[in-house]
Amino acid sequence: MTYYEKKPEKKFFEKELEDYRDSIWGCARCNWCQNHWGWNVKSAEYSEVCPAFHEYRIFPYSGMGKMHMARALLEGDFDYEDAPEMVKFLYTCTTCGACEMNCQRLQDKEPLQVNETLRAKMVADGVGPMPEHKGLIKSVKNYDNPWMQPRTQRDRWARKIPVKDANREKVETLFFVGCTSAFDNTQWHVTQNTARILLHAEVDLGMLGKSEICCGSPVARIGDRETFISLATRNIELLNNTGVKEIVTFCPGCYRSLKFDYREVPGVPELKPRVYHTAEYIHRLISEGKLKMPGKMKLKVTWHDPCHLGRHCGIYEEPREIIRAIPGVELVEMERIKDQSWCCGGGGGVRTAFIDFAQKTATKRIEEAKKTGAQAIVTACPFCEQNIGDALSKMDEDIDMYDLTDLLIKALETEA
Ligand code: SF4
Ligand code: SF4
Repeated sequence: MTYYEKKPEKKFFEKELEDYRDSIWGCARCNWCQNHWGWNVKSAEYSEVCPAFHEYRIFPYSGMGKMHMARALLEGDFDYEDAPEMVKFLYTCTTCGACEMNCQRLQDKEPLQVNETLRAKMVADGVGPMPEHKGLIKSVKNYDNPWMQPRTQRDRWARKIPVKDANREKVETLFFVGCTSAFDNTQWHVTQNTARILLHAEVDLGMLGKSEICCGSPVARIGDRETFISLATRNIELLNNTGVKEIVTFCPGCYRSLKFDYREVPGVPELKPRVYHTAEYIHRLISEGKLKMPGKMKLKVTWHDPCHLGRHCGIYEEPREIIRAIPGVELVEMERIKDQSWCCGGGGGVRTAFIDFAQKTATKRIEEAKKTGAQAIVTACPFCEQNIGDALSKMDEDIDMYDLTDLLIKALETEA
């Protein structure tokens, strides 16, 4: 087979570096993958979009650098021994997708897919992931969640909330809670708000409780395909067997896995229920007049686009329209938004393995948010909230951090 012969199309989770050979060789070294898209740039300060290159300042950390490493490995021009730092080059990528978004506009190459395929190769070859990720993988295998938590604790957040048990009775809509928000009690406000909002709109809501299992997103992003495929296979069977028509989740990692990644697993059945992120679902409920918001507040906020919700899944407008629909809330935008948004810094396993870098990236986002004059940063991702929230707690800044549901619940449950 020559370099330029058309390859048979494969699903993402079976692709190897060889399948990207044309793309890898086609990288024009133009560097668009690390810059904020030209005509959107308003200031030099916010002209970059790749957190890894912004921090480390040498090309192996950029999307372009990953293409070059892939090319050298593919052609046998270097090996892991020649570049022991390679694992760090790859795992300081937050998988934010800015490089892929910008490259696809101009050059139509896939630097992030190549990076994830490189990670999968390194895991298969026994040189990846980072040592800090190994406990996470072990936990997913032993406990069905990445946080070493017993399964019996998964539904503790719901003790006083009347969500039906989808294991025992038929429901229309399944709330897929996700591991981080189920086990971390600092995230329970989002889980509880979400359930209360959906129940307020009289959604026939159920959950799997203790029998829910990890969607697989954390292991997919760090390159452990074997564990991801096993979780995807189990989840598809589990979720199809509930007979629900739709699934709602507020974790963008779960959303991406259920809605898009499972379709990219070879040899598994289709996931039958339709999958929604809470921003999409609540947007629909508001449009249908099922959520009336009598409460009025006076608050100026800015929206932080989670990478896995925005660039990865294309949801930019719904959360903004929800914010604008809340009486008394004004939305002001940061310089880098939507597909040119700056990552929170925590994704792709970076918060687990490189916490200082993750926090520096979040600090930059907070500074950018402050410049809008907003009183609060609003988002809809447990990882963004954790990473930005932690950075914020160490800064002396007069700005709050909210999940989208915090604003909604206040507007729904406060008297006018
Ligand atoms: S990955 Fe794409 S945007 Fe980046 S240098 Fe290569 S061709 Fe240019
Ligand atoms: S996904 Fe984001 S952090 Fe990773 S190389 Fe691309 S732009 Fe940089």
